[in-house]
Amino acid sequence: MGFLAGKRALIVGVATDRSIAWGIAQAMHREGAALAFSYQNERLAERVRPLAESVGSRLVLPLDVGADADIERGFEQVRSEWGHLDIVVHAVANAPREALTGSFVENTSREAFRAAHDISSYSLTGLARAARPLMQGRAAALLTLTYLGAVRSIPNYNVMGVAKASLEASVRFLAADLGPLGIRVNGISAGPVKTLAAAGVSGFRRMLGQVEKIAPLRRNVTLEDVGNAAAFLCSDLAAGITGEILYVDGGFSTVGMSFPQEPES
Ligand code: NAD
Repeated sequence: MGFLAGKRALIVGVATDRSIAWGIAQAMHREGAALAFSYQNERLAERVRPLAESVGSRLVLPLDVGADADIERGFEQVRSEWGHLDIVVHAVANAPREALTGSFVENTSREAFRAAHDISSYSLTGLARAARPLMQGRAAALLTLTYLGAVRSIPNYNVMGVAKASLEASVRFLAADLGPLGIRVNGISAGPVKTLAAAGVSGFRRMLGQVEKIAPLRRNVTLEDVGNAAAFLCSDLAAGITGEILYVDGGFSTVGMSFPQEPES
């Protein structure tokens, strides 16, 4: 029996089979959780439905995190089908493409700042508010996805780093608020993974190359790496962990300096 047997999870953020949320869904399915999926719009629905079907999920619903009415409707649908919820995975981010390149000071407009924070940060709180009545008193867990750009400057990541800093602060405030109700709130700071969202950050390939050279594990992380850590964090094995950001990045964030490897003589 898997360590998530009996748990019911809503996965928000699958767009393709390369999505980090899909890696998480697969790990949670393997560990015995029942899964529901949301999709951002009808175009993505065509991609999400067959993936959901492949893990035995029949609950697939539209949910644009930028619209309060969508959030309410989505969770009402979950309530009417399941009655309660144990896990919500928030794997959502967006910012105008022109803000994810070049100069931070030149390319961060007021509108780009607002949009990035609304979709990539506020949405976690919006989902948490709607999920609370379905999760309270159940040893439940909320999980979000963040990146090193929240705490270090990274070329081109720009306003998304600022939004991720806000997201990570939200993890701590939500953990404080929801902990007494039995709901844990954590984040995973993943190393770079080639996905649709990642393709929006200019120079993304160079980031992958840097990690391979510098990270202690000398490789990039996989969907499985992130999925397994997510399944653990949302399980009762992690019952004592909340308000935490867990780095799943091959150790990249722990390195202060690195020299190119000398060939062995
Ligand atoms: P992805 O493109 O596969 O997933 C991003 C998801 O966000 C998509 O499913 C998209 O539909 C959804 N989304 C965007 N706007 C939305 C809206 N208004 N309403 C509902 N959904 C919306 O890319 P990904 O890399 O798997 O991203 C998932 C999360 O992981 C993001 O928070 C991202 O910042 C984070 N992350 C990614 C990396 C990476 O290198 N790929 C690294 C660390 C953290």
